[in-house]
Amino acid sequence: MKEIILIKNGEIALKGLNRSTFEDTMIRNIKRRIAHIGKIEVRKSQSTITVTPKDEFFDMDAAVDIIKKVFGIKALCRACEIEKDIEVIKKTCKSYLENDLLNAKTFKVIAKRSDKKFPLNSPQICREIGGYLLSKFRNLSVDVINPEVTVVIEIRDQFAYIHSSQLEGAGGMPTGTGGRAMLLISGGIDSPVAGYMLAKRGVELSAVHFASPPYTSDRALEKVKDLLRQMTLYTGRIKLYTVSFTEIQEKIRDQIPEEYSTLVMRRFMMRIASEIAKKDEAKALITGESLGQVASQTLDAICCTDAVSKMPVFRPLIGMDKEEIIEISRKIETFEVSVQPFEDCCTVFTPKHPKTKPEMDKLVAVEDVLNVDALVENAVNNTETEFIWFK
Ligand code: ATP
Ligand code: MG
Repeated sequence: MKEIILIKNGEIALKGLNRSTFEDTMIRNIKRRIAHIGKIEVRKSQSTITVTPKDEFFDMDAAVDIIKKVFGIKALCRACEIEKDIEVIKKTCKSYLENDLLNAKTFKVIAKRSDKKFPLNSPQICREIGGYLLSKFRNLSVDVINPEVTVVIEIRDQFAYIHSSQLEGAGGMPTGTGGRAMLLISGGIDSPVAGYMLAKRGVELSAVHFASPPYTSDRALEKVKDLLRQMTLYTGRIKLYTVSFTEIQEKIRDQIPEEYSTLVMRRFMMRIASEIAKKDEAKALITGESLGQVASQTLDAICCTDAVSKMPVFRPLIGMDKEEIIEISRKIETFEVSVQPFEDCCTVFTPKHPKTKPEMDKLVAVEDVLNVDALVENAVNNTETEFIWFK
């Protein structure tokens, strides 16, 4: 009996002439993520992709767990691939789904016949298989409305497939089909969620983190890497740029009035991130800002920071409440890492009374005491890079 994984495309199916490119990217992503488990063969047919293990000891559970997190997939299931012969199909339904069927009281059969040359039509297949299973499992009766087990039989070009429960996929678009963007990642709850949301729409992520040693510790930087590592389960490999931010933060602390310090700092982040993004061929920045969450995220404050970015800034959390953000961060399992108590460069230098309604002219005048261009250039040149990858 040969077990495979059946994958149903999501939105990709609507992509007309580009569909094949989207599918190929998704298949490449699946292969990369699965590589450490074993060799697979991937085939496309209609709106379905089949993943067939080539190794005898291939870990199907682990593979399903990984594929569940690959964007572009609507649903997936383990299925049995067999010859298109009704007698073989009957016997395989009984043996392959025996555990499910023995433990249920009700079931129904759904047949999908895309090979119209198959001698039985879908209602006939349902009747044959349903009758056979009723005769073999005395515990079962048919319930077409709300069955405990749904036996699905798909008759396709080459083979027939049998499966029962279907798992929900990660949805979205395959990572890499939407270009690249640069995520500003802190160690907090919000920024990993923001990155996840753009990656879900097909965007490949790079990331930039501002560290201020010795005010921020090595452990705080490790936490950021742990967050990214967790995100790579969804996003694939991420290139991390770590900017040494200490010099700029000390200059701000010493030369900028305290109430403006956070905004000046955030404008530096935007400028530096834009420069690094340009070098990285990323076309947009992503932040975890949410309107009104803190002083630097009021509409006036966001206008001040947005003004210095050289590219679009995506803020996918802008209209979300903290609870909604936390719900996603729990789902993608970054929450547990985010709440570890390590200081961030923002928290170390937080002023007591930050401006919530800054005026741009005043801010620009205040900032003028610093040699902005030179500081930005220096920070960009003092950036370390490394790839973060789960496996
Ligand atoms: P988060 O939970 O993501 O830390 P936050 O609510 O703490 O967000 P801020 O500290 O004001 O908000 O930061 C807003 C956004 O700025 C973050 O979501 C992130 O995108 C970016 N950011 C903040 N600190 C850093 C940092 N040290 N390095 C890179 N980006 C940062
Ligand atoms: Mg933060």
